[in-house]
Amino acid sequence: MPEAKILLIYTGGTIGMVRNPDNQSLSAFNFDALLKQIPDLALLEVNIETTSFPNPVDSANIGPSHWIMLAKILLDNRDAYDGFVILHGTDTMAYTSSTLSFILRGFNKPIILTGAQLPIGILRSDARENIITSIEIAAGRFPNGEPIVKEVAVYFEFNLYRGNRIHKHSSEQFSAFISPNFPPLAEIGVDVQFHHDRLLSVDETLSKSLLQNIHTNLNSNIIAYTLFPGQSHRMLRSLVDQGEVDGLLLVSYGTGNAPRDPELELAIESMIKASRPVVNISQCHAGRIRQDLYEAGRWLQQLGVISGKDLTREAAITKMMYLLDHPEVEAFRHWMESPIAGELSI
Ligand code: ASP
Repeated sequence: MPEAKILLIYTGGTIGMVRNPDNQSLSAFNFDALLKQIPDLALLEVNIETTSFPNPVDSANIGPSHWIMLAKILLDNRDAYDGFVILHGTDTMAYTSSTLSFILRGFNKPIILTGAQLPIGILRSDARENIITSIEIAAGRFPNGEPIVKEVAVYFEFNLYRGNRIHKHSSEQFSAFISPNFPPLAEIGVDVQFHHDRLLSVDETLSKSLLQNIHTNLNSNIIAYTLFPGQSHRMLRSLVDQGEVDGLLLVSYGTGNAPRDPELELAIESMIKASRPVVNISQCHAGRIRQDLYEAGRWLQQLGVISGKDLTREAAITKMMYLLDHPEVEAFRHWMESPIAGELSI
């Protein structure tokens, strides 16, 4: 087989940052300087080409316009490369990997995101290992030339995770991410051990239609509303009554429980009467929503609140952004409660 061809895309993030000598804060740096720090890349039996956002950013600044830009780079180069590695800040990596998994369903080639907790120029940085292993994973093929990974995944600190299952849980440990409701797709020690039974396989018909018709209309008029005891729900109600909220993500307790507070109930009722969806996920990172388990969850189900099942917060928000322009709430409910890119377990 000829060497795999990989496109390395730099968006910004700590991995390529340098310290400003005046105030010591970290800011995004030039891509060529980053590559010079890893001359070993030339030793890999992979043909690597690179591209970069015109202005690399701290991932706190990433949003829908960047996601569309990334999707366009990936689609324009899909046929010319065997796999893709995206260097991205860790802060919002889970949002980007989730969004890409939805808008690029059926892409059918490896899209691996990675980053680092320390800039590559620092001796103890985790960047070098994360980049090199991500490239090896993106280049992984079966003897018939088919890619091993055909989905959006995140490689970090010896684990490959499904991109729409991760959550950044630590700003200090090298293992910055967890995938609380889905096990790793691969574990990396001396060898790369893929769990083939966990990897997505792709429906070819789906892939053709979606790639011709990529859906980039992301609606961000969403409130992610985290409950806490004693909370006043007046502000939420007033925003909902002003018609400002197109989708409400209720971040509830435990298996999907919420206090039966009159203001909260009115806010949820007005959303649902106006055909604007309300989705329930849990403040717990692991486990799933079961609105029928307690009386404190059943009232939400009776009002028509949609179960976010075991979605992460990042996947729930970006999936809502992706699905919100569905004119029919029932179609929205159906897709929200069904896996479309391996993001939830039924
Ligand atoms: N603030 C940085 C970013 O997300 C943190 C990192 O990359 O780890 O861009």
